[in-house]
Amino acid sequence: MKLAKRVEALTPSTTLAITAKANALKAEGHNVIGLGAGEPDFNTPIHIIEAAYQSMKEGHTKYTASGGLLSLKKAITNKLKEDQGLTYETSEIIVSTGAKHSLYSLFQAIIDEGDEVIIPIPYWVSYPEQVKLAGGVPVYVEGKEENQFKITAEDLKTSITKQTKALILNSPSNPTGSLYTADELKAIGEVCLQEDVLIVSDEIYEKLIYGEAKHTSIAELSPELKEQTIIINGLSKSHAMTGWRIGFAAGNAKIIKAMTNLDSHSTSNPTTISQHGALAAYNGTQEPVEEMRQAFEERMNKVYERLITLPGISCVKPNGAFYLFPNAKEAVKNTGFSTVDEWVEAILEEEKVALVPGSGFGAPDNVRLSYATSLDTIMEALDRIERFIVRHS
Ligand code: PLP
Repeated sequence: MKLAKRVEALTPSTTLAITAKANALKAEGHNVIGLGAGEPDFNTPIHIIEAAYQSMKEGHTKYTASGGLLSLKKAITNKLKEDQGLTYETSEIIVSTGAKHSLYSLFQAIIDEGDEVIIPIPYWVSYPEQVKLAGGVPVYVEGKEENQFKITAEDLKTSITKQTKALILNSPSNPTGSLYTADELKAIGEVCLQEDVLIVSDEIYEKLIYGEAKHTSIAELSPELKEQTIIINGLSKSHAMTGWRIGFAAGNAKIIKAMTNLDSHSTSNPTTISQHGALAAYNGTQEPVEEMRQAFEERMNKVYERLITLPGISCVKPNGAFYLFPNAKEAVKNTGFSTVDEWVEAILEEEKVALVPGSGFGAPDNVRLSYATSLDTIMEALDRIERFIVRHS
């Protein structure tokens, strides 16, 4: 059977091959350390689990309205008011099956065949594929490593054409952990306003910020920028709720309504039980969120200090998320490999450490490692990588 063109055009995930290999090695009994995790290693806070259980016992096991429970939308408007100082109506909020699905519906709702969407490199792997699935054309702009992998307003300006529909911003970023400052966002925002480019602001790592850094949503910077922006966020990373699949989009009511119509014909509604858990997550104590953030920050600092001692490895220090994105170009060359992809594969084979090659994120000189796993495990992985580098040099 011939498959549809739209799925044939999808780029296979570069992480899949390495994950499959890591799993095969594990099945053979090898002690494989995976540093590929894209989710917190903590359990969901217990009060959220209990609230979801209680809701089921009370009979909340049926469909909800398509865009989510009104009470949850209200809780989200409260969150946006408290954290971002932004006022939204519930008609400007949609609850979706994870932030990934908010993004998917958004692109389906706004992109026509041939519309361009600007995606800064390095990018989260699903952005280009989701844009292509909607008939759009990803236009890549390189965020230079010297500039902490961030694009500038100038870079953006030169990439805009008559076909440009939207810009995706992801701050803090997966895979780099970089965070845009308010000034950088202001300059980027001005260009978007001048050129009428919709800003898709993916703020899923908002709660994971380290050191002196502060998270700013571009929508906070002026009423005009709020109008021009769709905020994407959710509970997966902040509240360790990846499996619950709850995310949201906030912005222009017409766009939100179109997304809700779309979802009514695909998911119907995000899981009712998860929505009740999400209500407890937003309305209840935020202490576990801060505790997890502190644990990530401690790990990041320790892992970063160790990582930059590895021969041929340099790394931009992240301000957020739970990834490090070191440049391995020198190490790859010094150990006799020609690409990071081959190097990563050899490390897995010889030292049983699974890293994610940067090629999948549009940055072929880098590798992504996640510190969403215990500190001892990561340190052991770094010892193994060092042993590999020394042996091959
Ligand atoms: N956006 C980015 C940048 C991510 O890294 C992820 C998850 O890995 C998501 C969105 C999707 O999160 P969710 O679990 O809410 O779908």
